[in-house]
Amino acid sequence: MTILLKNGTVIDYASRLNQKMDVLVEDTKIVKVEKQINNSADKVIDCTGLMIIPGMIDMHCHLREPGFEYKETIETGSKSAVKGGFTTICPMPNTKPTPDSAIILEQIINEAKRVNLCNVLPYSSVTKGEKGEELVDFDEMKKAGAIAFSDDGMPVVNSKIMREAMIKADELGTFVASHCEEKSVAKGAINAGEVAKKLGVEGVLPEAEEIMAAREIVISETNKVRGHICHISTRTSVAMIRDAKKRGVKITCETCPHYYSFTVKEVLESGTNAKMNPPLREEEDRKAIIKGLQDGTIDAIITDHAPHSEEEKNKPLESAPNGIIGFETALAASITNLIEPKHLSYLDLVRLTSYTPAKLLKLDKKGQIKQGYDADITIFDPTLEYVYEKESIVSKSKNTPFIGKKLKGKVMYTMVGGRIVFENKLS
Ligand SMILES: [Zn+2]
Repeated sequence: MTILLKNGTVIDYASRLNQKMDVLVEDTKIVKVEKQINNSADKVIDCTGLMIIPGMIDMHCHLREPGFEYKETIETGSKSAVKGGFTTICPMPNTKPTPDSAIILEQIINEAKRVNLCNVLPYSSVTKGEKGEELVDFDEMKKAGAIAFSDDGMPVVNSKIMREAMIKADELGTFVASHCEEKSVAKGAINAGEVAKKLGVEGVLPEAEEIMAAREIVISETNKVRGHICHISTRTSVAMIRDAKKRGVKITCETCPHYYSFTVKEVLESGTNAKMNPPLREEEDRKAIIKGLQDGTIDAIITDHAPHSEEEKNKPLESAPNGIIGFETALAASITNLIEPKHLSYLDLVRLTSYTPAKLLKLDKKGQIKQGYDADITIFDPTLEYVYEKESIVSKSKNTPFIGKKLKGKVMYTMVGGRIVFENKLS
């Protein structure tokens, strides 16, 4: 099977390419990227006016299966991911049961294979049952196919255990992705400050994230091992990681579209649909996150896609669960809130959504539009403007503050391993 993409604008960070090119795909691979390809093909897609980027890689999401299938399944989550232009997604292990043994991890991998829409590369938990007490068998989990290790949703409180985990993961050529939350200062519904006061709810202090992020930097620096900090949201986290990187510490991090699209004020408008962990912060934090994306302090944009049922999100602010869905709005939110205001270029966006994530995850043949690379490709219209509607959501859950917001940019085709797995038929 050959597919020819004609007249699109190819944006590839590795080669700093941002120009009109044709792309030829044969079976699972990209075989040609040239200004004019005249080969005949089984299928020709006219990409005039569209952008062609390496398939987006989401290093951090929640698919809820096994255990919480009423929120999302591997199947519905994969459908939502490919609609959003993601070709590889890495689900976190806070499921029930937790993938803390090879058998459970293999079940997730097998179900993803059955669904067969995008690459699903699951994390193993760091500790048994994400309880923070006993390390999983790192060798066994790596062999069973764990992409990396995380107790996301739960912080690893015990520093001795985290230290051992980071050293062990590094030995295996991978890393621990740390959900940083120092619980004693993290009690609350939303960010501490004026909005929390106004709503009469207890506020989460920014130090909840920063104290633990500082610990991970120390462990990484002292032991010269890799460390990765999940979903950073505060100005101090950005500053600490920037400084650490300057010293050569092997620390990397990620952030989510909501941290550069909103501030805590969004809670006044969207209520529990703007409640997540870490919480939305202040404007100064939002600006610091954008700076971190610009200068490479932040390595990756991730969704932290976290589906919850409407019933759960209809609870009061204090008791509603944390998290919002994110696959289907990540690209448009980034175009709208990073590219349009000229904070970032499209090349930067590709660096953050595929090029660097592929490097961090050691996915050798992904993250680039290049001959010999996997034909994981996202094709989108950067000019389409629309109001985001709940009815358009493919995910099983609808918990997102982007509902009703004006967005720009829409995914038109998603290709995984040379196969078109999503096509926007509305065009
Ligand atoms: Zn988390």
